[in-house]
Amino acid sequence: MIGVTENLLKIRDLLSRYALEAGRPADAVQLLAVSKKQPLEKLHEAARAGQHDFGENVVQEALAKIEATASLDVTWHFIGHLQTNKTRAVAEHFDWVHSIDRLKTARRLSAQRPEGLASLNVCLQVNIDAEQGKSGVSAEELPELAHAVSELPGLRLRGLMCLPAIHTSFEAQREPFAKLREQYESLCGSGLELDTLSMGMSGDYRAAIFEGATMVRLGTAIFGQRDT
Ligand SMILES: *Cc1c(COP(=O)(O)O)cnc(C)c1O
Repeated sequence: MIGVTENLLKIRDLLSRYALEAGRPADAVQLLAVSKKQPLEKLHEAARAGQHDFGENVVQEALAKIEATASLDVTWHFIGHLQTNKTRAVAEHFDWVHSIDRLKTARRLSAQRPEGLASLNVCLQVNIDAEQGKSGVSAEELPELAHAVSELPGLRLRGLMCLPAIHTSFEAQREPFAKLREQYESLCGSGLELDTLSMGMSGDYRAAIFEGATMVRLGTAIFGQRDT
């Protein structure tokens, strides 16, 4: 049995070590625990070990977990493909959405965010390798989408997210992350106030940290293999 608490301790240590290695402050990188397809017990163990941010990619599964952990102080991030008919549930129950790639989805989330809640934090997902059929806005369409989303009430545009193709070598892993960072810097230069680069998963987060990730999304590294 893999201990979630031990994994978290080890990963927190690595996050600060990699950040320092990259010439960044030790606390530069926030940890998002991706709890999709993981049992509630592991999620509870992570929360007891001080983990605050959790990510899910299927709305139905997430709603059950949100309800089951209502007494805990946790922040929920939606990181999956968002279908139009699921935007209301996300607008009502999540604190963050990392996977916006169309204005239509953003408009719906904006209209459906309940008034009593703080703005929904959003990142735009970029199809960084320009892969056919993959989610994410293209590099060409990104600036227009970013500026349009930044104007929507009830949403706060925080930054960019990507899910690059899998590479095993450190240098190859850095390339797409470097591209995302350049797009992020270009948007900041055009007047948008962004603070989040959501990039890096269990297999490539060191490379992402070297390219400026402010939030890494780790599932298996924390919780072990997912239920299939
Ligand atoms: C599943 C998932 C992750 C975590 O993947 P691991 O390889 O288990 O760390 C991160 N981001 C997204 C968008 C995911 O769907």
